[in-house]
Amino acid sequence: MKRPRIGVFKFASCDGCQLTILNMEEELLDIIELYDIAYFREATDKPLRGEFDLSLVEGSISTDRQRKEVVEIRERSRHLITIGACATSGGVQALRNWASLPAYKKTVYPSPETIEALSTSTPISDHVYVDYELWGCPIDTDALAETLVSFLMGKRPAVPVYSLCMDCKVKAIACLLVSRAEPCLGPITKTGCGVLCPSLDRPCYGCFGPMEGANIESLMELFKKNGLSHKECMLLIDKMNTYAYRKARIEQGL
Ligand code: SF4
Ligand code: SF4
Ligand code: SF4
Repeated sequence: MKRPRIGVFKFASCDGCQLTILNMEEELLDIIELYDIAYFREATDKPLRGEFDLSLVEGSISTDRQRKEVVEIRERSRHLITIGACATSGGVQALRNWASLPAYKKTVYPSPETIEALSTSTPISDHVYVDYELWGCPIDTDALAETLVSFLMGKRPAVPVYSLCMDCKVKAIACLLVSRAEPCLGPITKTGCGVLCPSLDRPCYGCFGPMEGANIESLMELFKKNGLSHKECMLLIDKMNTYAYRKARIEQGL
């Protein structure tokens, strides 16, 4: 049987989600048997050739060149899946969407005039059609394995989309928000990380992004009752999924 051709592409990102693929020690050999890995610069030096049955795309669109390249990748791909917070919601680099790019460049780089960048960092879905999104910073290996197997079977991946709190309850963790008034983003965040932070006695900071229908304002009102200012509440959501959380607030008319 002809194996589907897979391509792994990178835009503005830290490479962490690509490294997650390489860290799939138990599944990696099976993936190589099932898929023809035709392009993956993090792992091979094969040049970009031909078309792809499935493209996995990491990173946000931050430059004019990337804007053109993602359109070309979409044209070459039968299916396209985004992997990680950068690709699905713009990443931490989208903080500049609410700030001044020249001011950021001047603060960060010794020669800011040499930096070519768009004034915004945006998710892949703002530029081309995306078949499926895998959230997380980085993505979860089980969710990726489920997605790759589901693609071969022609079915939708069984990746949960409910809130982190549901899995936190299943693990019988004492709620940090209720018992200690800690500002945990669990109620508005997608599950998928295995409840990592609350398991380690730390509040969630939302690296899996907003769950569908998240009542962000209600949670912020609770944080304010617990003593946080509006600015402190905004700083909680202004991290790797700032664009998605802020867009969700705007859609809720806030
Ligand atoms: S989502 Fe997180 S881990 Fe993945 S590339 Fe972006 S910054 Fe890195
Ligand atoms: S600790 Fe956080 S994730 Fe867990 S139940 Fe409480 S609010 Fe939800
Ligand atoms: S608990 Fe929240 S911040 Fe921590 S890994 Fe999970 S989704 Fe990310």
